[in-house]
Amino acid sequence: VQNYLSRLALLQNLLEQSESVDSLVISPGPDLRYLTGYDAIPLERLTALVMRAGQAPYVLSPLLEKAAALASPIGAIGLDIRTWSETENPFEMVAGTLPKNGSFAVDGRMWADKLLRLQAQLPEAKSSSANQLISALRMKKSSDEIESLRAAGSAIDSVHAQVAGLLKVGRTEAEVGSDIERLIIESGHARVDFVIVGSGPNSASPHHEVSDRVICAGDIVVVDIGGTMPDGYCSDSTRTYSMGETSQSFRDKFEVLHHAQQLATQAVKPGVSCESIDQTARDYMTAHGIGEYFIHRIGHGIGMETHEEPYMVAGNKTLLEVGMAFSIEPGFYVDGQAGARIEDIVICGEAGADVLNNRPRELVEVEI
Ligand code: ZN
Ligand code: ZN
Repeated sequence: VQNYLSRLALLQNLLEQSESVDSLVISPGPDLRYLTGYDAIPLERLTALVMRAGQAPYVLSPLLEKAAALASPIGAIGLDIRTWSETENPFEMVAGTLPKNGSFAVDGRMWADKLLRLQAQLPEAKSSSANQLISALRMKKSSDEIESLRAAGSAIDSVHAQVAGLLKVGRTEAEVGSDIERLIIESGHARVDFVIVGSGPNSASPHHEVSDRVICAGDIVVVDIGGTMPDGYCSDSTRTYSMGETSQSFRDKFEVLHHAQQLATQAVKPGVSCESIDQTARDYMTAHGIGEYFIHRIGHGIGMETHEEPYMVAGNKTLLEVGMAFSIEPGFYVDGQAGARIEDIVICGEAGADVLNNRPRELVEVEI
């Protein structure tokens, strides 16, 4: 409860200081859960945390969900809960508490339908995204959050430890994928978020999921998996496997990738920019002939969402601060042939990266 009270107080403070926004309307999603602990399911009925400069926040809830809201930490926080019944217009109710000519911001996950209906109630007001304001808080993890991410990291590591045993010539990606899903839950996750088993040419498609392709001898298999723990924090880790021996030219490229991933991890420290972490790996890969195959940013922030601020990408000049959590996941993808990726979640610490995924990063050669 103390965490939520201090997050709400920090956000209220940012809101008081903001020159561009006077109110916030936060619908169910990761921002609401981060701020209040209320893990409400986004549905067509409007639930929202409403915050206004100079006034106390309140939660608007459908009457039939009031008990659920009170059962969440919202009850213990003591937030004012206002309810609406089935025949009332909740958008009109929220709009009635906001300045007519003001400027309100909404969470980035609010359904467009809800934003449009709110805008229709406040035709004179400006509306914008609250992403910047809220991610300024969410980006920097507290020590509790770091421990949650560490637990998520070891849970997914324990799944990767078993993947080599599931990869067999003759099995399909989908068969391996469903075993992995089961293991993700057994390892302590509450939910499977994604399972990528990209074999052979599919390894060269970074966001391939699974297919009915049968795994063959000599295939490269990229396995990128993640889930959400019961407390809401996410895991995400990638290792690359080889079904038996692979070509020298692939192994050479993989060695470059492995070193690039290490260099980027070593570059993490407070005060360096997000884009420089990407550049460190990219420069090395380019100097060793595989830069053109590194077709995505090196990483993304992680917390209550698998992808959140800060994004580790050229152009992001945000400076790393102690407590920021993000992935370092360079890869190379030779279209139609094979690809590879190595991904760890790290925390920016005082003395450098605190690495949360610790399975060996070498190409895992599966005996066939
Ligand atoms: Zn991943
Ligand atoms: Zn990732």
